[in-house]
Amino acid sequence: MHTVLRDKFGFTSFQGRQEEAIGAALAGRDTFVLMPTGGGKSLCYCLPALVKKGVVVVISPLIALMENQVENLRKKDICCDFLSSTRSAEDRRAILDNIQSQSPQMRLLYATPELLTTDGFMLVLKNMYKRGNLTLFAVDESHCISSWGHDFRPAYRKLSVVRRELPQVPIMALTATAAEKVQDDIVKQLRLRNPALLVSSFNRPNIHYCVHYLFEAGALDPLPHVVALLKEGRSQDAASRWPCAVIYTLKRETAGEVAFSLSAKGIPAAAYHAGLKTAERTCVLSDWASGKTPVVAATVAFGMGIDKADVRLVVHYNLPKTIEGFYQESGRAGRDGRPAKSVLFYSRDDRDRMDFILGKPKKGKRKRKQPKSQQGNGELQAFGQLVGYCTARCCRRAILLRHFGEVLPAGTCTGCDYCEDPHGVAEQLERLESEVVI
Ligand code: ADP
Ligand code: MG
Repeated sequence: MHTVLRDKFGFTSFQGRQEEAIGAALAGRDTFVLMPTGGGKSLCYCLPALVKKGVVVVISPLIALMENQVENLRKKDICCDFLSSTRSAEDRRAILDNIQSQSPQMRLLYATPELLTTDGFMLVLKNMYKRGNLTLFAVDESHCISSWGHDFRPAYRKLSVVRRELPQVPIMALTATAAEKVQDDIVKQLRLRNPALLVSSFNRPNIHYCVHYLFEAGALDPLPHVVALLKEGRSQDAASRWPCAVIYTLKRETAGEVAFSLSAKGIPAAAYHAGLKTAERTCVLSDWASGKTPVVAATVAFGMGIDKADVRLVVHYNLPKTIEGFYQESGRAGRDGRPAKSVLFYSRDDRDRMDFILGKPKKGKRKRKQPKSQQGNGELQAFGQLVGYCTARCCRRAILLRHFGEVLPAGTCTGCDYCEDPHGVAEQLERLESEVVI
């Protein structure tokens, strides 16, 4: 295992619980891998593919994600491919021939859940199994199986067929979603048998967390502060390049406005949201990936599978809806392990707006007879926790980790505005609370 890690992947040591996950999978055990974004989950199924005979089949929710991984593995001379509805009949045939041969060259095959669960493909898998060529099923982004999760994909539900039809093949479920409900759902739906539970810490020590308060009396516009942050990033770069940054906004229009305003100030920025045409989105993504447009202002549509190691700054221009979402989004910063920043803008105005969107009854008004939907209440509660992150007089990192069931020992925070200046933060909060909001 260590030789492959060094020679094929170029890493000197395992990270988090990678080694145990790989060991358990190689021993034929079901595994549940819970590691934060950037924790190195892919290695947990890529490495077994290289040390064991046969093919590892990886289920992945997005074609862009599969393409990206295949490209990266091929750079390391690892034979792999992906199957989806977008592949030509010819390509598919070649792939199927390869994996059904006596000793396939293919080490990893990525497939969409839709494709995997077709009868035809199930037959192929059975053929592979008979030849002893099916090493492992890896279900990446496995939270997509749960309607409690944030990226529910109905096709993931059908994956239970894998266990039913091929009960002997071990399954590895991977996710960065910490919600217990979702985890239980994954184990149940995939019918995992006494899985080895491999959980890494969710602490991201190289990310500095900061909440930037905006006051009614001052300007509520975060833009000048964002410009300052970007300029600061540039001044710290040896070659004076603009830092790679993502600015999350609640609305598509805001993303467009922010990108426009930054561009007007000479900062190379683009907008990204679900309202753009596919071609435009691809273009923004590739210019961002190549560093041509280092700053992207985006809605949450800019998300899963974005794997750029050198993001230096993630800004929440508006309040996110949940701590979970905030953690995932800010977690896109600093995947290379170098210092990075998460800055969230908080104003009473923005908080009230979100409360309103989520349907919080106004003070003084009579409550609705019955809560219209239980879900609405859940959303409000989740948002309340996020507000707690912004307004508690306590270490930001500790709050985030507590949300994921971890305890950060006192005095071990590696950087947040509160730990740096608790009195300053407390003063600002007092000012915020005493403000009269019209
Ligand atoms: P995840 O899927 O958990 O979000 P990835 O598998 O995409 O994370 O890995 C994130 C980054 O960490 C990648 O750039 C990967 O090359 C790197 N990485 C993975 N394992 C190791 C390791 N053992 N040592 C150093 N870097 C690693
Ligand atoms: Mg991943």
